[in-house]
Amino acid sequence: MEVYADNAATTTLSERALDAMLPYLRMSANPSSLHRPGLAAGAALEDARERIAACLNASPREIWFTSGGTEADNQALLTAASIGKRQGKMHILTSAFEHHAVLNTLKKLEGQGFIVETLDVHEDGLVVPQELEAALRPDTSLVSVMYANNEIGTIQPIREIGQICKKHGILFHSDAVQAAGQLPLDMQALGLDLSALSAHKFHGPKGTGLLYARRGIHPERLMEGGAQERGKRPGTENLPGVIGMAAALEEATEEREALGKRLTTMRDRLIHGLLAAIPHAALNGDPIRRLPGNVNLCIEGVESEVLLLRLDQLGIFASAASACTAGSLEPSHVMLAIHRPYELAHSSLRLSLSRENTDEEIDYLLKEIPQAVAALREQSPLWLDRLHGRRSYLLP
Ligand code: PLP
Repeated sequence: MEVYADNAATTTLSERALDAMLPYLRMSANPSSLHRPGLAAGAALEDARERIAACLNASPREIWFTSGGTEADNQALLTAASIGKRQGKMHILTSAFEHHAVLNTLKKLEGQGFIVETLDVHEDGLVVPQELEAALRPDTSLVSVMYANNEIGTIQPIREIGQICKKHGILFHSDAVQAAGQLPLDMQALGLDLSALSAHKFHGPKGTGLLYARRGIHPERLMEGGAQERGKRPGTENLPGVIGMAAALEEATEEREALGKRLTTMRDRLIHGLLAAIPHAALNGDPIRRLPGNVNLCIEGVESEVLLLRLDQLGIFASAASACTAGSLEPSHVMLAIHRPYELAHSSLRLSLSRENTDEEIDYLLKEIPQAVAALREQSPLWLDRLHGRRSYLLP
């Protein structure tokens, strides 16, 4: 059996999105051309924008197409920073476990004179709104806190954070890349000023995403070129990608509630089954306020990379941290942010589920993973030390 349990890294393109894309992959017209096929392509692009906006309870003018979540995050933050700079407000508040698309953009802004403050995340993987409010300053221009974390799946209290930001007249950006398809995405109800989405996380195509910028916020242009996207994002539009993203988002919106229930049941069976079968393991992040499809465990005495290789041999495809940091020897910044000790930060296993996973697959994971862990522990001198009382356990 083969089980793909790495849907937080990317999902399979849905049939509905593929079918919608195929005519546009075969089409030769550029949406900016003035001949009839060009006008038809332009109309299809705007139709997709309207359909996407409807899924997000946004206006089509608030949707700006990008090459994915990374670009949208960059554009959101640089836009807010430039507004802040014009107002003389140079302080930015974020959380310690944001995606690198956010953290590294903020690092760049620090080099340009911004003061970036990182809020502590608690052991449960949640930002506390009251602590965030206490950290605001008169010169805070932007708060950036993700909707759901990509490694541990914890869902942040973004409505409360949005209300706080509104009260203080501060822009609020929330990276919603992992939330899409699993959590409500009503931009009005969530109170977001800026947000980022990426199609490949909700069964759309890779290399396509969007920036949501509330009416009145004019995105900063990151590149120089033509007048596409109202002059804010030059370059010929990825029409098949946008069409696929619209179809995938509509599908995800229609099925979200039912899927959420099914994934939650599978997730909880997996968490409880694995924790019951693997001693000295623990769940990373809050057990309830987490994405329906996210399981992330610390498994003491097992190196993530070794476990992932063993699981791969068994046909189980999973991750430790995010796909972007895979292969790096550094421990996950998310694990460190939730105060896991250095040694345990190298021992995480992320299983992320999607609509394609089945109950039979969960049975397979529950059977194989504990056996794989036991076999690896037997070969670990560090683990044997613990077993024989020469070192104490880090997890109960
Ligand atoms: N933000 C989060 C939370 C993500 O999980 C990812 C992708 O892993 C991104 C941003 C980047 O999105 P993309 O791969 O579309 O650039």
